[in-house]
Amino acid sequence: MKQYTLRRRIDLNDFYDIIIVGGGPAGCAAAIAAARDGSKVLLVEATGTLGGMGTAGMVPAWCYFSDGEKIIYRGIAEKIFTEARKGVPHEAENAMAWVDINPEQLKLVYDRFVKQSGADVLFFTRLAGVEMSSKSEVDSLILASKQGLTAYKAKVYIDCTGDGDLAAWAGAIYEIGDRNHTMQSATHCFSLAGVDMFQYTMGVRLHGDNTESPIYEILKSGKYPLIEDNHLCQNPVGPGVVQFNAGHINVNTLDDKQLSDAMIRGREMANQYKEALQAYHSKAFGHAFVNNTAQLLGVREGRRILGDYVLTLDDFKARRQFPDEIGRNSYYVDIHIPGSESVHYGKGESHGIPYRILTPKGFKNLLVAGRCASSDHLVYGSIRVMTNCLVMGEAAGTAANIFMHGPRDVHEIDVRQLRGRLREAGQYFL
Ligand SMILES: Cc1cc2nc3c(=O)[nH]c(=O)nc-3n(C[C@H](O)[C@H](O)[C@H](O)COP(=O)(O)OP(=O)(O)OC[C@H]3O[C@@H](n4cnc5c(N)ncnc54)[C@H](O)[C@@H]3O)c2cc1C
Repeated sequence: MKQYTLRRRIDLNDFYDIIIVGGGPAGCAAAIAAARDGSKVLLVEATGTLGGMGTAGMVPAWCYFSDGEKIIYRGIAEKIFTEARKGVPHEAENAMAWVDINPEQLKLVYDRFVKQSGADVLFFTRLAGVEMSSKSEVDSLILASKQGLTAYKAKVYIDCTGDGDLAAWAGAIYEIGDRNHTMQSATHCFSLAGVDMFQYTMGVRLHGDNTESPIYEILKSGKYPLIEDNHLCQNPVGPGVVQFNAGHINVNTLDDKQLSDAMIRGREMANQYKEALQAYHSKAFGHAFVNNTAQLLGVREGRRILGDYVLTLDDFKARRQFPDEIGRNSYYVDIHIPGSESVHYGKGESHGIPYRILTPKGFKNLLVAGRCASSDHLVYGSIRVMTNCLVMGEAAGTAANIFMHGPRDVHEIDVRQLRGRLREAGQYFL
C-alpha cells in the first residue's frame, strides 16, 4: 500500500487519568472498577451500545457462571448477571449455565452500571491511531468521531477492543489463530420473532447435538447453500422471540473488506435460516420473521497480545493456581474449528487467571483485558467468554487505579494490593 504523511494539528483532550477503548464486557467492567476507586475515566466505544458481543453482537446466552457447585465469577460480573437476568423472567431462578440474554435489558444494565460509576462514555468514537512517547509508553490516542480526529492523553490505557487494536498499534507482539493462523469461525447472530413459543418449547429440540433436529433435513435438502453445518444454538429471549447463534463464516475479521463481506453474507444467512425453519419446523416458525440481525459480526477470535505470562492449555489441564491470580475460570475449551478437541472440567474444578496475562510485554502504561489477553490458541477457546472478560476487566480497571497512586508501571504494581482490593469488592480466587 502507498504511504501518506499527515500534516495537520488536531485538538487535544488531557482531562482523563485512564482511557479504556472498547465497551464490551471487559471494557465496561474495567471502566466501572477504575471509576469506583476515584480516577477520571473515559470509555470509548465504536458503536452506540455498551456490551460488545452480548448486545451489539446478539450472542444469546451467558456461559457458566458457576463451577457446577458455586458461583465463581463474582464481583462486577455477578452484579451484571443478576441485573441482566431480570430481562428473562422465564428463566429458572437458580439457572447458572446458558442463561438467556435479553439484549435490550443487558444494554440498560451496562449503561446504568457504567454511568453510576462516574465514568464518561463516548459512543460512535473509534480508536484510529496510537502515539508513543517512547517504545514502552503510550503518549496519546487518536480518536475518530463526528468531530473528526481528536487526540486524548491519559496516564494509563486499557485495551478492551476484543481484537487488541490499541496494543497492536502501539507495537505490542501478538499472535493470531493456530500454528497455521487459522482463526475460529465467526457467526452472525440474529433473532426471529412471531415464533409459536408453545410449539418451540414443547416440539423437537433444534440444537445440532439432537439427531432429530430439523437441521439435518435442512442440510440434506441442499436448498439453503449458506447453511453449511449443524451449528444451531438458540435461546428464547421473550414472548415470540428466539435469538440464534447459528452457522459459521470463515473470515479474517481484521481485514476490513472481508469483515464487510461477512456482514452481508450473515444477513443472507439469517434469511436462509428463517426460510428453512419456516419449511422444516413450520409449527413453531411458520409465521416467523427476521426481526433483528446483529450490528457487530460475532467475532470469536482476534489478536492475542503477548503478556508477561501466556496462559496455556497445560495450565487449564493442571487446574493451575497462580500467586497473582485475579479470578477463576471453569468454562470448557470450546474451539469453533472443525476437528478441535474440547476439554471439560468436573464439578467444582477451575483454574486461576493470572494478572500477568493483562500486562503486555514491554509497555509501562498499557493493560489489556478481554479476549485479547495473553493466552495460547487452545486455552483461548475457554477464556474468551463473557464471564472471564468481565473478571479480567474488573482486574485491569482496579490495577489502573493502583497505577495512578503507585509506581506508574503496570508491571510493578503491588499485586497483593490488587488482590486485596478485588477481594474486598467481592471477586473470587484462591
Ligand atoms: C457467536 C458467538 C457466540 C458466543 N457465545 C458465547 C456464550 O454463549 N457465552 C459467553 O459468555 N460468551 C460467548 N461468546 C464469547 C464472548 O461473547 C466474547 O468473547 C466476549 O464478548 C469478548 O468480550 P470483550 O469485552 O473482550 O470484547 P467484545 O465483546 O468483542 O467487545 C469489544 C468492544 O470494543 C469495541 N471496539 C472494537 N474495536 C474498537 C476500536 N478500534 N475503537 C473503539 N471501539 C472498538 C467493539 O465495538 C465492542 O463493543 C460468543 C462469541 C461469539 C462471537
